[in-house]
Amino acid sequence: MRLGQFSHLWIDLAQRHGLRVDILDVEWGEGAPVERIEDLLTKDKQHEIKGVLIVQNETATGVTNDVGAVRRAMDAAKHPALLYVDGVSSVGSIDFRMDEWRVDLAITGSQKGLMLPAGLGIVCASPKALAAREHAKCPRVFFDFGDMIKANATGYFPYTPALPMLYGLRESLDMISEQGLDTIFARHHRLAEGVRAAVRAWGLKLCAREPRWYSDTVSAVMVPEGTSGVDVIDVAFRRYNLALGAGLGRLAGKLFRIGHLGDLNELMLLGAIAGVEMAMRDVGMKITAGAGVAAAAEHYRGTAAPLPARASMPSPGAPQAPSAGGAATPRTVVRT
Ligand SMILES: *Cc1c(COP(=O)(O)O)cnc(C)c1O
Repeated sequence: MRLGQFSHLWIDLAQRHGLRVDILDVEWGEGAPVERIEDLLTKDKQHEIKGVLIVQNETATGVTNDVGAVRRAMDAAKHPALLYVDGVSSVGSIDFRMDEWRVDLAITGSQKGLMLPAGLGIVCASPKALAAREHAKCPRVFFDFGDMIKANATGYFPYTPALPMLYGLRESLDMISEQGLDTIFARHHRLAEGVRAAVRAWGLKLCAREPRWYSDTVSAVMVPEGTSGVDVIDVAFRRYNLALGAGLGRLAGKLFRIGHLGDLNELMLLGAIAGVEMAMRDVGMKITAGAGVAAAAEHYRGTAAPLPARASMPSPGAPQAPSAGGAATPRTVVRT
């Protein structure tokens, strides 16, 4: 399925490996064409198709695909192909269900929802994928599961592992389980809704055509005809030290992208929204100063969690209560 630059690159990768790829093209900004997938698989009576490759969150367009629906289409076609999911910009940030969707091979990287530097490619394989490996004819070296499984059994790797990255991964996984995946998904949704409120207030449109495809980790914002997204990105970076994503491939110049995943909260994101707004005004776009920031801020105010109790914290400026004759144990307030 080609829905944007990242799915395009995956197709390119498969073709360079010498694989035959049937490409399902959709307009960039739309999600996976589930009916067409089912149709294609139903017609493949000989089961020549070995894998269905889908990018869960197309980072170039800010479109999230319904992987569960792709699985249901494969089941409806009674097709045994393996289901491959690129989850680089979704795993750990948007709901992803390896077991429930019976994903056979999931891929992610350290540099997005896992909040680490770039450097780790992480793959997760189903028993069905591991069994298919026995008969697969593709050349493999670095990611040969066979070498990895053999060495792992004795606690080793077939190559020198990126140990500092693995220590980092342990820490980020601890952070994720401490917060809880459901809380993290809800946080990303809330942050994304604030960005979308800002985009509406600017009078602009997202690249994603329909709300059901809106991504909670990245928003691709279309710039009007006659304006270049490249200029917005350039000014944002050089004047305000704000890194925005560019329009990729056929979308070059037509949009800019705001990433909102990982270790991020609403005030950090409001800073980014303010920077975007300033850069857009600088390049001459007709944007009301403060419109996007106000819309996002109001969304965050309206959806903020109730204030947690802080019983042991003296309110700012309140005089410290003298301890009663030294009998009471003074409370210790630990601030971190
Ligand atoms: C970031 C990303 C990748 C990996 O690309 P890098 O250039 O290595 O960061 C792959 N797929 C998707 C969907 C991505 O967002």
